[in-house]
Amino acid sequence: AVRVRFCPSPTGNPHVGLVRTALFNWAFAKHHQGTLVFRIEDTDAARDSEESYTQLLDSMRWLGFDWDEGPEVGGPHAPYRQSQRMDLYKEVAGKLLDAGHAYRCYCSQEELDTRREAARAAGRPSGYDGHCRDLTAEQVEEYVAQGRTPIVRFRMPDETITFTDLVRGELTFTPENVPDYGIVRANGAPLYTLVNPVDDALMEITHVLRGEDLLSSTPRQIALYKALIELGIAKQIPQFGHLPYVMGEGNKKLSKRDPQSSLNLYRERGFLPEGLLNYLSLLGWSLSADQDIFTMDEMTAAFDIADVNPNPARFDLKKCEAINADHIRLLDVKDFTERCAPWLKAPFAPWAPEDFDEAKWHAIAPHAQTRLKVLSEITDNVDFLFLPEPVFDEPSWTKAMKEGSDALLRTAREKLQAADWTSPESLKEAVLAAGETHGLKLGKAQAPVRVAVTGRTVGLPLFESLEVLGKEKTLARVDAALA
Ligand code: GLU
Repeated sequence: AVRVRFCPSPTGNPHVGLVRTALFNWAFAKHHQGTLVFRIEDTDAARDSEESYTQLLDSMRWLGFDWDEGPEVGGPHAPYRQSQRMDLYKEVAGKLLDAGHAYRCYCSQEELDTRREAARAAGRPSGYDGHCRDLTAEQVEEYVAQGRTPIVRFRMPDETITFTDLVRGELTFTPENVPDYGIVRANGAPLYTLVNPVDDALMEITHVLRGEDLLSSTPRQIALYKALIELGIAKQIPQFGHLPYVMGEGNKKLSKRDPQSSLNLYRERGFLPEGLLNYLSLLGWSLSADQDIFTMDEMTAAFDIADVNPNPARFDLKKCEAINADHIRLLDVKDFTERCAPWLKAPFAPWAPEDFDEAKWHAIAPHAQTRLKVLSEITDNVDFLFLPEPVFDEPSWTKAMKEGSDALLRTAREKLQAADWTSPESLKEAVLAAGETHGLKLGKAQAPVRVAVTGRTVGLPLFESLEVLGKEKTLARVDAALA
C-alpha cells in the first residue's frame, strides 16, 4: 500500500512551493488510494513557532487537503510532531552508535574549517575528512579531558549509491561526494538528517516526493536506511521523486522571502483554493496538452508521478490569475455570492454596514462573476451601489471628463430620464443617442457617465450597473457631476 508524507517545518508563512509539494503528495495518495501522513518537522526550536504551526494547519484545511494520519487526526504512529518524539531519536542514535554506523566526532568548528580550506586549496573533496571515524580509546579520553563535546556523525559506507528517482530516472552518487554527516548536535539535539529518515522509516513511508533542493540528502538517507534495516528499525527503502524547482521573477528560484510566494497573499486577494491548486498542479505537471482548467478530482484521477517534468517550472502570476478567473466563472452564482462575503464587509468594505443592500448585491453579482480575477476585486466593483456617493478618484475624473463632457452628460441625463428603466438595453440606447447628438461613439459617450455614477473609469457592465443602482440615484449622480 502506498504511504506518502507531507512534512513541513512550521517556520514562517506557508509558501506556494510547499503547497505544490503537499498537493503532489496528496494527489499521489488519492490516486493510489494510499495514505497521506502529515508530519510536523519542528525540531528546530529556534526557528519553529506555534503560530506557524496553527497557520500551517489552517492553510492546509483552507486548501481543502485532508490527511489520513497526522495532527488533529491521530494515527498508529502518533505523535506526528517531531518535537514530541525526541526520545525515539535518541534511542535510534544510540543504536546507530552501538552498531558502529555512527561515531562521536570531536572536531571543533575551527578545525573543520581549517581542514576544509586546506582540502579545497589542494583540490581535494572538501567534505568531512573522516578524522574521528576510528579514534582509539586514548584519543577519545584526551578529547574528553580537553572538555570537548562531540556531535554524532553517520559513517557513510564506502560505496557508490544508485537509485531510480521517480521523476529524474537513475541517479548515481560516488562516495567522495557524500561524506560522513552530522546527525546529532553537541547539545544532544537530533538533526533533520536523522529525524526525517527515521520517521519515514517508522511511519513506513513508501514514496518520498519532495523538492529538488533535497536531492543531495537522498544518498545519505539511503545509506542511513540501510543501517536502519539492518537494525530492524526500517522495513524498506522508500522510492524517491524530486519535484522540479519553482522559478519566480527573473528566472530566479522562487524563495520563501519572495512576497509572491506567500500563500497568505493568495488567500487575502481572494484566490479560490481550487483555482490556486489548479495552477500549482501545472508547476511540473499537466493534465493534457489542451486542458488547463480542471477540478482536483480530475487531477487526482490522472496524476502520475512519472509524468512530472524534471525541468524547472516557472511561476506565472498572470496565468495563475487567469486560471483562478476561470474557476470563479465555474461557481454557481449562489456559491459565488457566498464566497465574496468577506470582501463585502469590514475591514474591506468602505461603506457602512446598514448601507449594504442584499437585493442590489444579488442583482449585480452575476455581472461581477464574469469579470473578477480574484474575489477581493469585488469591493471596488460594487462600492458605487452601497456608498452614499461614488468614490472620488481624481485621475479617473481627469481621464473621463473632457471638454464637452458636460454637454454630453446633460443630454444623457435627459435621455436617461425618459428611458425605460426595466431593461439595460433601453439605458444603452439612451447613452448611445446622447453620444450621437455630440458626435461620440458609445465608448466615448459612456466614459463620463460611468465616472459620474461609479467614480471609476473601469468596472462592471455599465447599463446593468445603472439599472441596479436605480433611476433616482443615477440621475442624482449625473446632476452632482454637473454641479
Ligand atoms: N521538513 C523538511 C522541509 O520542509 C522536509 C523535507 C522532506 O520532505 O524530506 O524541507
